[in-house]
Amino acid sequence: DKEYDFLIVGSGLYGCVFAHEATRRGKRCLIIDKRKHTGGNIRCEEVEGINVHQYGAHIFHTNDKGIWDYVNSFVEFNRYTNSPVANYKGEFYNLPFNMNTFYQLWKVKTPAEAMEKIKSQVEASKVGVPTNLHEQALSLVGTDIYEKLIKGYTEKQWGRPAEQLPAFIIKRLPMRFTFDNNYFDDKYQGVPIGGYNKLTERLLEGIEVRLETDYFADREKWDAMTDQIVFTGNIDQFYDYQFGRLEYRSLRFEHQVYDTPNHQGNAVINYTEREIPYTRTIEHKHFEFGNQPKTVVTAEYPEEWTPEKEAYYPINDARNTKIFQQYNELARQEKYTLFGGRLATYKYYDMHQVIASALHAVAVKFQEKPVCQQN
Ligand code: FAD
Repeated sequence: DKEYDFLIVGSGLYGCVFAHEATRRGKRCLIIDKRKHTGGNIRCEEVEGINVHQYGAHIFHTNDKGIWDYVNSFVEFNRYTNSPVANYKGEFYNLPFNMNTFYQLWKVKTPAEAMEKIKSQVEASKVGVPTNLHEQALSLVGTDIYEKLIKGYTEKQWGRPAEQLPAFIIKRLPMRFTFDNNYFDDKYQGVPIGGYNKLTERLLEGIEVRLETDYFADREKWDAMTDQIVFTGNIDQFYDYQFGRLEYRSLRFEHQVYDTPNHQGNAVINYTEREIPYTRTIEHKHFEFGNQPKTVVTAEYPEEWTPEKEAYYPINDARNTKIFQQYNELARQEKYTLFGGRLATYKYYDMHQVIASALHAVAVKFQEKPVCQQN
């Protein structure tokens, strides 16, 4: 008999949910993580009494009541509503694109006027079938919105000119013809009261965790200790990069403390011009309506990814998709290893999706009826 029923590699949201659910079902679980902390990319660090999102701003949103009730059973969520503001060359515009934005751009006052303006700009741009992101965006929203609010931001995100980016990156550009700055359409959204660490710590209550422990540093030892592995690390590394490396975009964060209670007046400001090297600045206290005397603001710089950097966004182009499919084929044949989460499935997941997929995996593993639909 092995020491553990499950070894869970990675204490991100996927690993936490899986470990919690398996433990609840009487299984012996051990979680290992190579980082110094649990929580993966949703980890917060307290600075000046403020929860600072270490790996990028995180706002929880979902349409799935089952998922919302699930997270709220561990920690209460506040009523934070994401309403980013765009700064383009010193002018401010509300996001997502809505009647406030259209008024700021053109002083139009009715939905009919706004629709007319957009329609005429789309027609004037004379794009046939879009062959790249530049044409795709123009054909969806016309010149002004594209030039001022999309082009520079997207080029910074992906590190190349919009004309060289594939059209599929932008499938839709939602526009709202009401004066409503709420970024997400989902029924439920918010941020955990007291921060995301509360959520992951509650999920991990009573579960053995070993930090600064890399699975690959002693793979045989870990394999010998357990019946089954739940792997949430990089799938290409699991298979010794035999089909090549999967590529990512990376990010660099610069945190700054200001000796003022309110630096930018909003949690998220997007910088949409190309010339400013960061894409967003995040004033963390506003996620929790903080009234601390100081404030922390983080600038987010998109970066080229190299293997020693954090892997943030998968590049789901033809080359990487093909490589991933080869790894995934091996993964599907594994009897004792389950692959989950964003790195092992080479997929961008929002938090509600990663939770849904972990709960789904639990239901399959324990042959139960799935509790939540995946969305
Ligand atoms: P991770 O959190 O990455 O966890 C994987 C863990 O495995 C890590 O802790 C890692 O250290 C560990 N690990 C990897 N390899 C090994 C190894 N060999 N040995 C031991 N441990 C290992 N979602 C939202 O819903 N709303 C948002 O606003 C939002 N904003 C985001 C902003 C940014 C910039 C990014 C990048 C993502 C955002 N997300 C957001 C998505 C969210 O971060 C993910 O859904 C979630 O963190 C994924 O959890 P995970 O467990 O799959 O992966």
